[in-house]
Amino acid sequence: LLGGEPLPRKNSHGIELTDPLAAAPLLETVDQIHGRQFKGGPIINGVMGEANEPVLNPATGEVIGHTANADKHQIDAAYRAATEAQVAWDRLGGEARARILDRIADLYEQHMNDLTALICLEAGRTLNDGISEVREAVDFCRYYGNGARQHFGEPVDLPGPTGESNQLYLTGRGVFVAISPWNFPLAIFTGQVVAALAAGNAVLAKPAEQTPLTAARAVELMHEAGVPKEVLHLITGTGAAVGEALIQDPRLCGVAFTGSTETARLINKQLADKEGPIAPLIAETGGQNVMIVDSTALPEQVVDDVIQSAFLSAGQRCSALRILCVQDVIADNLLKMLKGACEELSLGDPSKLATDIGPVIDEKALATLEKHRERMAAEAKPLFAFDESKMPENGTFFGPQVVEIEDFSLLKREVFGPFLHVIRFKAEELEDTIRRINATGYGLTFGLHSRIEGRAHAVFKRVNVGNVYVNRNMIGAVVGVNPFGGQGLSGTGPKAGGPLYLYRFAEEKTKTINT
Ligand code: NAP
Repeated sequence: LLGGEPLPRKNSHGIELTDPLAAAPLLETVDQIHGRQFKGGPIINGVMGEANEPVLNPATGEVIGHTANADKHQIDAAYRAATEAQVAWDRLGGEARARILDRIADLYEQHMNDLTALICLEAGRTLNDGISEVREAVDFCRYYGNGARQHFGEPVDLPGPTGESNQLYLTGRGVFVAISPWNFPLAIFTGQVVAALAAGNAVLAKPAEQTPLTAARAVELMHEAGVPKEVLHLITGTGAAVGEALIQDPRLCGVAFTGSTETARLINKQLADKEGPIAPLIAETGGQNVMIVDSTALPEQVVDDVIQSAFLSAGQRCSALRILCVQDVIADNLLKMLKGACEELSLGDPSKLATDIGPVIDEKALATLEKHRERMAAEAKPLFAFDESKMPENGTFFGPQVVEIEDFSLLKREVFGPFLHVIRFKAEELEDTIRRINATGYGLTFGLHSRIEGRAHAVFKRVNVGNVYVNRNMIGAVVGVNPFGGQGLSGTGPKAGGPLYLYRFAEEKTKTINT
């Protein structure tokens, strides 16, 4: 890699929720913000615009704030300011930008409690998930800051003939649009924005329509940390309302997108038709993630890892386990244990410490999952269904489900929620199972539970996915430790939190001088 070894850096600290003293300030903050109204309209040149569209708490259906679709004039003003300001931001150099990103990290850490509470309120994430998310966002700031320090300062000297000097420079590309999903409203939003900023770009950031309040708070903190207000703008609104104006603008130089495969395809098509520079698409999309469990696996550990991978965050993680392939000889025993563990799961208010699973994001997500359940009732064998009598009265909740299916062909698309599908395989069918996994076309995460020496390496080589996890759960990639991202239908291959990520946001420029 350019610039050698990564600079030393520590991942951020969380809050130990099992310690009542440590948890108390967060729980107080959660109480304080219940009932408050937040504003998350467009932020253009540091000024927040009008906001009158309600934003709902998915756990209660209550209005917790307001947002608005940015209009064409606001998007044009953001492009104008960003295009002009990007030049000075790029020239500022990697070290100065890194110091600002470090300050964002410090501010996020200072605001750990209120950011966690807001994520919980707006996205229905549990407090544990919220804390992990703030930590991940902090880690992105420091990690990409170090990347800027290391790679966006001095040029790299290249070899050449006598009498010629050659150097390679990395610079920003121009104005980036960063489009993020609701399932990590702070971490993914922040990761995209700070990566683009670190590389010397200006950014127009579009959060998901369901989570503009967390995004607005993040942008306020980024501006407070020193990101110039002309360099970073928040474009709130639905994809349908603001997508075209953002993507078709000739001033656009690149798009960082995280979301569904379908939306990535649509944006790719729009980019192909736009005037101006050919803008690259950095796409991180969905998965059809599989775990294989062979007869040598430790059943207790498997059950624990399956529960975490399939059901935490209400299964609303791109990395979540969707299809569990179990070797037939251990299947009955394992599935019985899994059913017992599912019965222990608690569903409800995500701001309560005892809650394992919060709501799904909205009515549309709930309807999609209910339709899938109806389909599976006809085509699959039920193994576990959450007790309907324990469902909360309000909010968009969907209880965890486990069904057994015959074949992968029943699942053409990602099912985004706490829905696990089980397939049995025979020892001699392992190769064929891997072939079928590759044939889905998705390639995000994959898990293997096996104690057979050499199997992990053999399977790793064969399976076409971005992140392979062996004898552990499949979620919670750590910045700088588990660079995260998929291939095929799961994305264009970037690895968020990895050493090569920033290069995707950069322009390479060489200087050759005949001395
Ligand atoms: P989505 O519907 O594709 O939306 C993602 C973002 O794209 C949202 O901000 C959305 O805005 C915007 N958008 C939609 N149509 C657009 C258009 N025509 N032009 C511009 N922007 C447009 O996905 P989602 O439901 O929010 O998120 C869940 C998906 O994200 C799942 O498939 C999950 O696997 C994937 N995901 C992947 C990763 C990864 O790292 N690979 C991480 C997290 C999530 P609106 O919300 O306003 O429509």
